[in-house]
Amino acid sequence: MEITENVPLKNYTSYGIGGPARFFCQPSSPDQVVKALNFAHKLRLPVYVLGNGSNILVSDAGVDGLVIRLAQNFNHLSIEAGSARVGVGLSLDRLVTQLAEKGWGNFERLAGIPGTVGGAIYMNAGAHGVSLGEFVQESMVMDPDGTISRLSSAEHDFAYRSSIFQHKKLIVLETVLAISPQSNRKLMHNIAASREKRRHLPPLPSCGSTFRNPPGVYAGKLIEEMGLKGTKIGQAQISPSHANFIVNLGGASAQDVYALINLVQTEAAARGIFLQTEVRLWGKFE
Ligand SMILES: Cc1cc2nc3c(=O)[nH]c(=O)nc-3n(C[C@H](O)[C@H](O)[C@H](O)COP(=O)(O)OP(=O)(O)OC[C@H]3O[C@@H](n4cnc5c(N)ncnc54)[C@H](O)[C@@H]3O)c2cc1C
Repeated sequence: MEITENVPLKNYTSYGIGGPARFFCQPSSPDQVVKALNFAHKLRLPVYVLGNGSNILVSDAGVDGLVIRLAQNFNHLSIEAGSARVGVGLSLDRLVTQLAEKGWGNFERLAGIPGTVGGAIYMNAGAHGVSLGEFVQESMVMDPDGTISRLSSAEHDFAYRSSIFQHKKLIVLETVLAISPQSNRKLMHNIAASREKRRHLPPLPSCGSTFRNPPGVYAGKLIEEMGLKGTKIGQAQISPSHANFIVNLGGASAQDVYALINLVQTEAAARGIFLQTEVRLWGKFE
């Protein structure tokens, strides 16, 4: 496994934004992840785990650490009685499709979410009333020392767009998901319906929803009511069609996006509402 230097992260994020990773690697086995962790440990560097980069805003200065990208590798899938054992690098959308082709389903509503299984577990990604965490039976995780252990379903602490991984430095390597046998045709129909519902989402580069919904309110509706829809800073814009999306109009800097995030949060705070970001911020922002 090669560890390369100064790798532009804009090539690995859905935003197409982001400065370089000081170090970058794409391991394809748990042993290689251990090697990467040892490398970071020796140089006292922080470690950043990257999936498909569809929920990350990387600062323009990049990150002074080691980025370990697990997308594409770690993409195994095996089906046992009522369970799918899945590598975290597999795309969530591909997983749903591959299961359906074999007549297994449960989470077709998540079809079209552009992340990996690992990123979807970290975020407890969800859509149309279903979240991936509901189906997780257990996961294989690695701690910063390279020790592998299993987490039971309850130990994931899943909540709305949240999991234990947002609070503890654990790398998910593999997960086991509950699946049930269903008609192949019905599954394909449901997948197509889920994808169709996404056709109205802004097509420009983004990270999806920027903010988590505060209790009982849609963040997008709130931003619209605050009159901020369509607001531009530099080449970033609060989407005129979906106010919870901040889009890259072409050549936006991370700072442009961050300035819009700040603006929205300040306006919300003036109304007594704390708007927490769903997007994860990597690196330093002014
Ligand atoms: C157009 C668009 C639509 C979207 N729609 C939805 C939606 O409907 N619902 C939804 O929930 N999200 C949605 N998202 C957001 C995003 O796709 C999800 O959050 C997705 O689960 C992120 O997966 P990823 O692989 O891209 O993770 P990344 O963006 O690469 O990483 C996200 C976080 O997960 C961590 N992480 C990734 N892999 C691992 C691992 N193996 N172990 C430990 N930590 C890890 C990273 O360190 C980072 O903190 C959308 C995004 C876009 C661009």
